[in-house]
Amino acid sequence: MPKRVEKSEQRWKTELGPEEYRVIRQKGTERPFTGEYVNEKAEGVYCCRACGIPLFSSETKYDSGTGWPSFYETVAHENVREETDHSYGMRRTEVVCAACDAHLGHVFPDGPEPTGLRYCINSVSLQLDCVAWGSTGLKRRGTIG
Ligand SMILES: [Zn+2]
Repeated sequence: MPKRVEKSEQRWKTELGPEEYRVIRQKGTERPFTGEYVNEKAEGVYCCRACGIPLFSSETKYDSGTGWPSFYETVAHENVREETDHSYGMRRTEVVCAACDAHLGHVFPDGPEPTGLRYCINSVSLQLDCVAWGSTGLKRRGTIG
């Protein structure tokens, strides 16, 4: 299991941008077709935007046509936790970061083979190719040195 990352709401509010905070901590949803990774084709690992653990790989990303980045598999099952979500009168399965509880999106049983799953994830919950993280926050590619 990944190491737990726990911070006060006030701390998260300071470290995350307004849209990141709204989606990640308040379980919001970015508008479809607006996220920076919807059409991203670059190879790499998508990490949790809030704490940096690896969540999804570009190898399992596919174009679902839904307007959100979609994956049919996680990098490591222990890094993603699933919870039943009853909001909006629907029964859906929410996926959250197992380390910091960041809201990532939902998983649906209508994905492609081999898993048949569709992880429908908000771009703002992800960071492609983060290289390091720690108490000072997530370092993004190009910001090191
Ligand atoms: Zn996280």
